[in-house]
Amino acid sequence: MIKYILLVLLPLTLLGQRQTIDKGLFESYDLYKEESLLNRRFKHDVISNLIDSLQGQKGIEISGLGHSIQGRSISMISLGNGETQILLWSQMHGDESTATAAIFDIVNYLKSNKSLLQKIRVHFIPMLNPDGAELFSRRNAIGIDINRDALNLQSPESLILKRVRDSINPDFGFNLHDQSKFYNAKNTDSPATISFLAPAFNISKDINETRGNAMRVIVKMNTVLQRYIRGQVARYNDEFEPRAFGDNIQKWGTSTILIESGGQYNDPEKLEIRKLNFIAILSAFESIASESYKTATLDQYLSIPMNDRKFLDLKIKNLTFSYLGQEFKVDLGINHKEIENADHSEFYYLGKVADIGDLSNYYGYTNLDAEGFDFKIGKTHPKILSDFEEFKELDFKSLLSQGYSAVSIENMPSEIKFTTFPMNIIDVKNIRIPKNNTIPQSPLKLEGNPSLILEKEGEVIYAVINGFVYHLKKGENHIKNAVVK
Ligand SMILES: [Zn+2]
Repeated sequence: MIKYILLVLLPLTLLGQRQTIDKGLFESYDLYKEESLLNRRFKHDVISNLIDSLQGQKGIEISGLGHSIQGRSISMISLGNGETQILLWSQMHGDESTATAAIFDIVNYLKSNKSLLQKIRVHFIPMLNPDGAELFSRRNAIGIDINRDALNLQSPESLILKRVRDSINPDFGFNLHDQSKFYNAKNTDSPATISFLAPAFNISKDINETRGNAMRVIVKMNTVLQRYIRGQVARYNDEFEPRAFGDNIQKWGTSTILIESGGQYNDPEKLEIRKLNFIAILSAFESIASESYKTATLDQYLSIPMNDRKFLDLKIKNLTFSYLGQEFKVDLGINHKEIENADHSEFYYLGKVADIGDLSNYYGYTNLDAEGFDFKIGKTHPKILSDFEEFKELDFKSLLSQGYSAVSIENMPSEIKFTTFPMNIIDVKNIRIPKNNTIPQSPLKLEGNPSLILEKEGEVIYAVINGFVYHLKKGENHIKNAVVK
C-alpha cells in the first residue's frame, strides 16, 4: 500500500516542481528588477554605470568589446562555469530597449541563484547600438541598420558582434529585439506580446540540428509564456534575409533564437513585457542547462500562430456620417504616435487616423461601437481665453456636452505641447486662414487628428479627443493627453 502511494505521489511532486520554476520567477521578480531602469528611453550612460557597478563582483566577468562610431563603449557581461555557451545581445536597434532592461534583471537573478551556472556560461551584450539608443532611433550613427550589416561589417557595432560570436562560438544565441505593438497573433484579437523565430539559414528554410534546437528552446519558452499571456505569443516570418545577423549566426552554427517584444494592454513602457522576457529567458536557460528542450517537437514550434499586423490603438466601428448629402458607415482606426522632446527622453501622444473603411478584420487595444450614435466633429469654442491658467479652470464636461472639443488661447506658452485635460488647445499664434475650397472637406481624413463627439438622443455620451475615448458619464477628469494645435 505504501509503495502504491509513493508511486502515485512521486510524479505529482515532479510535476509540481516543474511548474514552480517559472512561477517562482514570476513571483520573485521584484527582488531582481533593476530599479534604475524605469522606462524605455534610458541611454548609454545609465547602462555604462550599471556595468561599472558589476565590475569586480564575484563570479562576474566584464569584457570591453570596443566602441560605437561615436565612441560609446560596448561591453559584455559573462557569468557561469558550465560548458554550454550562451550569447545574448540586445538593442542592435537603438529604439528597442525592452530586453536590455531585462538583461540587467536576469544578471541580478543569476548573482544570487547560481545553480544554473554550473551547466551553462552566459554572455550578455546589452545595448549593441548605443548611438542609436541616444536618439531612440533604430539605426546607428551613419544610418546603417546593423541587422543588415552581418556580411559587409561596415559598422564597428557589427564587427564587435561578429568577432564575439566567432571567438566564443556559442551553442545558443539570443537576438533580442522589439516589434511594433500593432502585431497580433494571426486571426486572433490577441496582440503578439512576444514573438519568436528560429531564423532560417538558407533560402529553402531547411531545418538542421542547429535550427531545430533553437525551435525546441522556443517551444519551452512558449509553454511558460502561455501561462501568463495566453494566446499572445506569435511566430515571426522565417523568410531568409541574407544580410541579417540572426540568419547568419544560425548559419555559422549557433542555435539562434529571435525574441521580439511587442505590445501588451496598459503597458506603455513595456515593463510587463520586460518581466516576461525575464521569465522566458531564464526558463530557456533552465531548459538548456537541464537539456529538457530536447523533448520538444518541431510540430509544437509550427503550431505557434504566425505574426500578423492587424492591431490599432483605437478601433471605432459603425461610425455613421453624411457628406455632400450622402450617408456613410465606416470603421475608423486611430494610432498614437510618440512625439519626443529634444533630448529623446520623454514623449507625448499624437493621435492619427491610421485607416478608414471596413476594418472588420482589425482589432483595437481600445474598442468603441458607434452603432446607434450620432457622430459630429468637435467644435472650437468661439471665446478666446487669455492664458493657460484660465483654461485650467474650465468645466470640461460641460463644454464637451455642448459639442466643444477645443478652446483657443491667446498667450499660450510655446513649451506646453499637451495637457491631460480632455480638451485640445488651439494656440491662436498657429491659426492659419484656410484656403477657399469650393468643395467642403470630409470630416475624416487619413493621418488627421479628428475630435469626435458621439451623441445618443441629443445627449453627448462619448468624446474622442486625440484618439483617447472619454466617457462623459464616468467620473475621471483626465485622459492620457490632449494636444496643443
Ligand atoms: Zn529590431
